[in-house]
Amino acid sequence: MDLKQIQKRLKKELDKERYIHTLSVMYTAASLAMAHGSNLQQAMYAGLLHDCAKCIPNAKKLTQCKELGIAITETEEQNPLLLHAKLGAYLAKEQYGIDDPEILHAIQVHTTGEPNMNLLDKIIFIADYIEPYRDRAPNLAETRKLAFLDLDQALFQIMEITLNYLKNGKGRGMIDPMTQETYQFIRERLT
Ligand code: FE
Ligand code: FE
Repeated sequence: MDLKQIQKRLKKELDKERYIHTLSVMYTAASLAMAHGSNLQQAMYAGLLHDCAKCIPNAKKLTQCKELGIAITETEEQNPLLLHAKLGAYLAKEQYGIDDPEILHAIQVHTTGEPNMNLLDKIIFIADYIEPYRDRAPNLAETRKLAFLDLDQALFQIMEITLNYLKNGKGRGMIDPMTQETYQFIRERLT
């Protein structure tokens, strides 16, 4: 499927807000790819499909992952919304015909991150956080600017803010160990 065909299908699979977010991430990812000399097509496909499983009801996410033999961590069991990343990578391949392992990987790690993410992984993770419709995170203007200058610094800033939010805010106690590991990894690299 090409980008246009995928959009048509996603419009049916996602609610309106999620669909708008999805397009927003696609174009933001494309812009970041331009700024950092990465592949535009990959960025657009990964951005467009990153949340393709998000609107599947949580109970169904769980059963579908179990049926497919997708490994579920304890954190995901408690917070099945996290599974939209793994399930999304699966659907991108099976239902949207994406064969490029890098695109699938970027979708798979877009929620928790992963230590040693590659360029595309970082672009999608960051685009998801800074796309123009986002308005809740603190210091967004600063993070947005940083994202076009230095992906690693931007990633570090996002991980810090996110972990802080998860520790203190609404998502209390819901930190996926992978997020913590990612943060540790970046911190060691940068400091
Ligand atoms: Fe997501
Ligand atoms: Fe998203």
